[in-house]
Amino acid sequence: MVLSGDISEVLSQDNLPSLDLALRRAAALAIDFLAGVDGRRVGAGREPHLSDVLPDVGASPEAVVVELAAAVDSGLVASNGPRYFGFVNGGTLPAALAADWLASAWDQNACLHVMSPAAAAVERVAARWLVELFGLPAETSVGFTTGATMANCTALAAARQAVLADVGWDVAERGLAGAPALTVVVGDHVHASVLAALQLLGIGRASLRRVAVDGEGRMRGDALAEALAASDGPRIVCAQAGNVGSGASDPFAAIADAMAVAYARDGRRGWLHVDGAFGLWAAASPTRRALVAGVERADSWATDAHKWLNVPYDCGVVFVRDAAAHRAAMTVAASYLAAVGAAERDGADFVPELSRRARGIPVYAALRSLGRHGVAALVDRCSERARRMAALLRAAEGVTILNDVVLNQVLVRFTPAGGGDADACTRDVIRRVQDDGTCWLGGTTWHGAAAMRISVSHWATSEDDITRSAAAILRCARAAGLERKGT
Ligand SMILES: *Cc1c(COP(=O)(O)O)cnc(C)c1O
Repeated sequence: MVLSGDISEVLSQDNLPSLDLALRRAAALAIDFLAGVDGRRVGAGREPHLSDVLPDVGASPEAVVVELAAAVDSGLVASNGPRYFGFVNGGTLPAALAADWLASAWDQNACLHVMSPAAAAVERVAARWLVELFGLPAETSVGFTTGATMANCTALAAARQAVLADVGWDVAERGLAGAPALTVVVGDHVHASVLAALQLLGIGRASLRRVAVDGEGRMRGDALAEALAASDGPRIVCAQAGNVGSGASDPFAAIADAMAVAYARDGRRGWLHVDGAFGLWAAASPTRRALVAGVERADSWATDAHKWLNVPYDCGVVFVRDAAAHRAAMTVAASYLAAVGAAERDGADFVPELSRRARGIPVYAALRSLGRHGVAALVDRCSERARRMAALLRAAEGVTILNDVVLNQVLVRFTPAGGGDADACTRDVIRRVQDDGTCWLGGTTWHGAAAMRISVSHWATSEDDITRSAAAILRCARAAGLERKGT
């Protein structure tokens, strides 16, 4: 291996042998990592120590790759493995990962069509496939963002544009200062990313109306009707497909009906946005589509591809029914951005960024490798595994499953023998599981009570992974003082 400090070599145009070595080495390291990920301890690991001395002299590409991989290893989390149940993460499908490598090698800028007709074409097709999979209106326009947070932000920017235009205010032209007051209705279990998006958009917390939720975290219809009755100006309702705790979805049809009633009353159509970071994927499964019934009646939707579709980080997707509002909210009319025919899709028209990674490429590859049936199978399989996990845990004394396990999320609570402090016991079990390393999961607070949160979002999670993980969790629970069944 050449440890070269010769800058003319590093930057040389004809440095192909060195490029070849580095890429092959990276591929070998990646393949080794993935081949071994199942055997890794699943946990947070140690933060690696990297020298913070800026080197004066460079190194060969291959040496950099080898050195980097060795240096960070202790801090790599096996989240791209089958027993990582933390947050809602997902892994990487082989086709998506491989295509992502190509996207990096091609280094296409997905900003404008002229910069990469290839990226534009792939995004166009991937966008259509997603619209079809989710059963959204055919006219829906689509943008590929960094994640659901920016997808929420983009959709809510379009919402802000449209509902203010409805009262004669062009926010793109005039800004928010002096604009008619907006009302934003959210469920009490709204995801923090929606609040962050609203904050970025200049819609402060004073504009929020929080709606009470039911036991599964779904907006309650009566409370929503009340909130809508109390607003008569421009309004946006933010609903949710897939509560991060329970996996439950808001009653979209009832929400759309309530908004229609409000529209008939005061002539304000309003805007219904759905944060469906992972829950929208239920729409792609014929057996779970009913969980998000009526979702197609919304005006905009946000989802992630890096969660349940299992593409590498990062990729979210925003969908807006009113393509004109979407473009109006996102378009930058700079003089050097050539005006192009409507036939040519400029990715930048649908997202906040200009220069951008061609995120449509791994999405296309994931969808191409799974097919319609494969996407449904991925959703169904993870959901069935979540149900299995719940069943195995529930069978033990002192374990309560707090949610109706309808999707890929499970909430668990542990009560110690003799009925002690269940909050402390639950947190203790979570800590023990995190130390144990068989699987990894986190904690949350569910209706005021401490809970363990399990998310089954990885394509490779097997029945055996669930059995092993449930056994590890119960072992930790017993160590934390949980009663044994029958004792
Ligand atoms: C994960 C998640 C988000 C945020 O998505 P990012 O991709 O992390 O930006 C928003 N809403 C819900 C319901 C989520 O699960």
